Amino acid sequence: MLKRLLNNTDAPDSAEIDEYMRVGGYRALKVALDASPSDVVEEVKQSNLRGRGGAGFPTGRKWEFAVAAEGSPKYVVCNADEGEPGTFKDRVLMEKNPHLLIEGMVIASHAIGAEHGYIYLRREYPRALDRLERAIHDAYEHKILGDAVCGTSLRFHLEVFQGAGAYICGEETALIDSLEGRRGQPRTRPPYPVTAGLWGKPTVVNNVETLCNIPLILEIGGAAYAKIGTPSSPGPKLYCISGCVQKPGVYELPMGTTLRELIFDHAGGMRNGHRLKAVIPGGLSVPVVPADAIDCPMDFDSLSEIGSSLGSAGVIVMDETVCMVRVAHRAAHFYEVESCGKCVPCREGTGWLGKVLARILVGNAEPADLSLIDGIAGAIYGNTFCPLGDSAAEVVTSIVKHFRDEFAEHIEGGGCRAEVA
Ligand code: SF4
Repeated sequence: MLKRLLNNTDAPDSAEIDEYMRVGGYRALKVALDASPSDVVEEVKQSNLRGRGGAGFPTGRKWEFAVAAEGSPKYVVCNADEGEPGTFKDRVLMEKNPHLLIEGMVIASHAIGAEHGYIYLRREYPRALDRLERAIHDAYEHKILGDAVCGTSLRFHLEVFQGAGAYICGEETALIDSLEGRRGQPRTRPPYPVTAGLWGKPTVVNNVETLCNIPLILEIGGAAYAKIGTPSSPGPKLYCISGCVQKPGVYELPMGTTLRELIFDHAGGMRNGHRLKAVIPGGLSVPVVPADAIDCPMDFDSLSEIGSSLGSAGVIVMDETVCMVRVAHRAAHFYEVESCGKCVPCREGTGWLGKVLARILVGNAEPADLSLIDGIAGAIYGNTFCPLGDSAAEVVTSIVKHFRDEFAEHIEGGGCRAEVA
């Protein structure tokens, strides 16, 4: 497939503004500036672009809400806090194609009437920070940012803000708290950020990859964009694949590519001739799917139909040598550490799940502990303030559901078939 988001990223100087412009960069911005803000919003709505951060909310509708919201100034915030385990696509975009992100943000500012934007960047991405800061500097020099964008009356200033390493700050309201200088914790919704976000003002928060799709939509038109991928999940998609495959990496493919194609056609198949056992298709926060489900298309609706989710499209592949009890224990531990502590079911429940899984792992548990896991997860699910709690419960219960035999082997014999494979 023609690369759109990763266009020209094999070139050594792809992050430089001259190289970006040489291959057509900032052409879409000119198209956007020649159109009215409402026409730009309409084009994005027509494209049916859905947010690439995980929720899949239609971007055009989000922008429309921000336009309609009362209050000024308005803000555009890029969520670049890519903390989801197994996910590294936004890093590649920011390191290799930072001007694509800037172009998307300037178009967004024109569409919603924002004069200031922030890129909330994961602190663990120092190279992306360097590249973004240089790209922003050069964009100011070329008058793509500033008080008269491309010689028009549009004013847009952009800066990078570094997070402090908390997973929860990938949640948009916690991100906004952090951006305001407070400890990042999720806010009560409603009101949603589009009406009362940063400093209480209308704020559009979009993921890096989402914003990087905007120039393409302006360039080819919303209707043409909507024909890429699947009707309900259109567009190109960056899939990151890691784990037990021969060629881990970031692959740009049409939305709806199956897991089988991704693993075997693009990522070179399984490593060391081992058999595929399971896949986490959308970063650690989504339910695991077993090997027999890999003909599922990787799009928002198809994965939810089989009980999982596209999430961040961070595809973690596991083979027969991977112990699923250990995976469940690691996942629970991750959520325990990253829980912000605001609500009891998540703060206490994730730790409790971790303790029960730890004793199963070492063969110190009883058969009733499997029901206990279901009970704890049931008390977390649906009873927490933000999706982190639900994710912890869903991931652990999905692993227990699909690989119950391995849990039984640990309980009865202190180990399982995977650990001796
Ligand atoms: Fe914090 Fe967890 Fe509650 Fe979310 S679910 S608000 S991360 S304690």
